[in-house]
Amino acid sequence: MKRTYRSKLSYNPSICDYCGVCVAVCPHDAINLMESDYEIDEQLCTLCRNCVFACPVKALEYVDETGI
Ligand code: SF4
Ligand code: SF4
Repeated sequence: MKRTYRSKLSYNPSICDYCGVCVAVCPHDAINLMESDYEIDEQLCTLCRNCVFACPVKALEYVDETGI
């Protein structure tokens, strides 16, 4: 099931292959990737979207629920 962080960053665990690319590009060390678990620290994430652009399988998406 998809998870949403900071109301805008959507993560789909059924697509993610835990490659670690997003962790490498996150400038704020906000992504915690364990063997088969994944968490984004909402206190650290600035919604810069580096991870969204870098994910090779598009498991991360930027969704603007406010429509702005
Ligand atoms: S880059 Fe995409 S596929 Fe790789 S660990 Fe991050 S979310 Fe998962
Ligand atoms: S949006 Fe930016 S700060 Fe947030 S988890 Fe992705 S790369 Fe890190």
